[in-house]
Amino acid sequence: MTQRVWNFSAGPGVLPLPVLEEAQRDLLCLPGVGASVLEISHRSKHFDAIIQEAEANLRQLLNIPEHYHVLFLQGGASLQFAMVAMNLLGDGSADYLITGSWGEKALKEAQLIGKARAIWNGKPENFVRTPRPDEYTIDPNARYAHFTSNETIQGVAFPTEPPVGDVPLVCDMSSDFLSRPVDITRYALIYAGAQKNAGPAGVTMVIIRDDLVQRAPETLPAMLNYRIQAENKSLYNTPPVFAIYIVMLVTRWLLHTIGGLEQMARINREKASLLYQVIDESGGFYRGHAHPEHRSVMNVTFRLPNEALEKQFLQEAQAHGLHELKGHRSVGGCRASIYNAMPIEGVQALCDFMRDFARRNG
Ligand SMILES: *Cc1c(COP(=O)(O)O)cnc(C)c1O
Repeated sequence: MTQRVWNFSAGPGVLPLPVLEEAQRDLLCLPGVGASVLEISHRSKHFDAIIQEAEANLRQLLNIPEHYHVLFLQGGASLQFAMVAMNLLGDGSADYLITGSWGEKALKEAQLIGKARAIWNGKPENFVRTPRPDEYTIDPNARYAHFTSNETIQGVAFPTEPPVGDVPLVCDMSSDFLSRPVDITRYALIYAGAQKNAGPAGVTMVIIRDDLVQRAPETLPAMLNYRIQAENKSLYNTPPVFAIYIVMLVTRWLLHTIGGLEQMARINREKASLLYQVIDESGGFYRGHAHPEHRSVMNVTFRLPNEALEKQFLQEAQAHGLHELKGHRSVGGCRASIYNAMPIEGVQALCDFMRDFARRNG
């Protein structure tokens, strides 16, 4: 196969074609450098320009204030599950809102470090929604409150930040980072693995308010310590240079080709509403997993009338060039991940196929 398909992979996910083309073009030799980004010192002025532009682009896209650090770390969002707790928990406790599989994992890791509890858990309802503010009680002394803005596996998203009073708000934003504007000042810390919506696997972005950086205990190993990472501007050791380079290109694409996150959010909402419309107008042939007000704009999860039809759907979709639509093994069904880089034409092709499939099999 030499032609690109419509790729609905949940992660690593689709990247913008112009970004891949530029990376390919410059892979042997960065203009003006004479070597590839893979082969130059991370302390060279050439790489410095790359990491500085990546940070500047993120600051511009998300309007990140000066008193927040932007870190480029390794270990994925999964390491942040532990690192957040290691740096912020101390001898206090933290409150978690659990709306899907990733939140469950985040809590489990924090509990290995110290005291953390679920103040709301959607598991008994099979993770179909996020909580109303009157359904949970925050401990006003909690060191932080944690939520997952978009649960990638269940396709459940918070319509807005959950109110947590004055408790520092921490968010795993891995799968909807850069999909929409965010008011950074409402957060103490945001983390996101790049490979869903911002770049390749290997780099995790952490946006952290300065007062939280100062909480890191002296006893933490350097690589796990936000303060040391911040003081060294993410260059304590060799950072994932290629992944950071691609994040730089993706954020440049968001700024200059898309025109910013308002514009990106408008396109994303349009793509998602096309798909949910097909689901809602299918007379029950397709059933969306999440409650309508809690639906993800990034990961559209749905079922068909039975597993045999789901299998047939996935096979026929693949033959139509619509790939990676199988739901996560833990929930089954189907999932279309329609990250920033999925063009509207890909979503339209999927909608056409879904209508036709329902007509033939409904
Ligand atoms: C994919 C994902 C993770 C795990 O990311 P890794 O980089 O593989 O550790 C965590 N949280 C969310 C919301 C995700 O989508």
